Amino acid sequence: MSIVESPVSKVEEIFHKQAAFFHTGKTKDIAFRKQSLKQLFQVLKANESMLNAAIYEDFKKGEFETYVTEIGLIYKELKYFMKHVERWALPSAVPTNLANMPGKSWISPEPFGTSLIIGAWNYPYELTLGPLIPAIAAGNTAVLKPSELAPNASAAMAEVINKHFDPQHIAVQEGAVAEAQALLNQPFDKIFFTGSTQVGKIVMKAAAEHLSHVTLELGGKSPCFVLPDANITLAAKRIVWGKFLNAGQTCIAPDYLLVHESVKAKLVTALKTEIQALHGDNPEESEALIRIINDRHFQRLHQLIDPEKVIFGGQTNPSTRYIAPTLMDHVTWDDAIMQEEIFGPILPILTYSDLSNAKQAVRKLSKPLAFYVFSRSARTAKELTQDMSFGGCTINDTLMHFTNPALPFGGVGASGMGSYHGKAGFACFSNYKSILKKATWFEPFMRYAPYTPFKKKLMKWALE
Ligand code: NAD
Repeated sequence: MSIVESPVSKVEEIFHKQAAFFHTGKTKDIAFRKQSLKQLFQVLKANESMLNAAIYEDFKKGEFETYVTEIGLIYKELKYFMKHVERWALPSAVPTNLANMPGKSWISPEPFGTSLIIGAWNYPYELTLGPLIPAIAAGNTAVLKPSELAPNASAAMAEVINKHFDPQHIAVQEGAVAEAQALLNQPFDKIFFTGSTQVGKIVMKAAAEHLSHVTLELGGKSPCFVLPDANITLAAKRIVWGKFLNAGQTCIAPDYLLVHESVKAKLVTALKTEIQALHGDNPEESEALIRIINDRHFQRLHQLIDPEKVIFGGQTNPSTRYIAPTLMDHVTWDDAIMQEEIFGPILPILTYSDLSNAKQAVRKLSKPLAFYVFSRSARTAKELTQDMSFGGCTINDTLMHFTNPALPFGGVGASGMGSYHGKAGFACFSNYKSILKKATWFEPFMRYAPYTPFKKKLMKWALE
């Protein structure tokens, strides 16, 4: 009799094997962690052309962009972690208060234990293997569940990881909702999820069942302010790049523009020039413009385009899931395109005359993952970033804060909780134990009964 393996029985088995492996203590060994990072670097290098080909199959995305937006970022993060992990894993001494003298205090990071990483499809490697780096650097085991919507990239990750790593330590479980839910039913110590706000809520409910530590990297509508004193030509260049990269399927893409009315006409002209410079007269033939991931998203985006408001682009081709870089003008807060995260190559332009009204309007939406402001005034830009709530921001450019490993990357409110990248990533997968060591040669008698006025006086002196 053959036993048919269901996703549930398979993930239970993976989970239990990884939990048992974690308890051997092997993953805590710093040399083992560094060796695992090195091995990940080497197997990715050795399989780079296969990984590139899979992305091309899923997105029609070329090698250059795959390197810049996926594989290159992973190499950079791996090198950063290999350089710093030893130091980050050390306990750090902190001051000891008077009431605990003589004594010593320190904070000691330990891995959470078993971790589950559920990835999104839009940058499948960066969003699945990216979090794996801090997971293993911090000494955890990891199960990766890539998104089923980029099936070739998912299969490529399964091939590379499952062949070269001990599944007790790192394993890829491919699949869709059933597999994700079967995994979420396991009592992982840490769950790291990248995806939509809606599924983020499901993940958090599942995490609550086991009180698993959870990080949610979600999405939202990221605003982009263009102030009257901005360098308009440069702003247009950088907005067009950040918006239409990956055909707008970027969680931190500028979702919509808020342009001061005095510079709107100039900006629109510059945006059109830049789109033409990047993608030519017929963007359908442009190598740098990738396709929409599937028919459902294509149809959703198609419906968001209001032909009456299109001032550039607007062409679509359902058979190749092509959508031209599209600008929509005279957009209002009530338009369909302003009711959801766009996640496609359509850029709505809203104008403002009064900055405080514009800020108020943005605050009515959920807190965004990213925030952009173009202005020559360092003071105005800084004030704006202090006034508004968001996960991360680049002033005078788009997307680039994502690439600085010294900046924690994450959202706030509906755009997520927790952050990673660089040391923040190590912290994201670590439990920081607080430890106080007391001396044995001195016994502070005043805390013990009988409580006398003298002891009370001493206590007040020590505590206040
Ligand atoms: P999604 O939420 O549909 O899917 C993400 C993952 O969750 C996939 O692996 C999927 O299989 C799984 N999943 C789907 N439904 C599930 C369910 N009911 N139960 C358990 N698991 C389930 O998101 P997506 O379409 O892959 O990605 C797009 C969204 O992700 C956008 O909102 C985008 O802004 C956001 N995003 C955020 C970041 C970030 O770093 N903050 C990065 C990329 C994408």
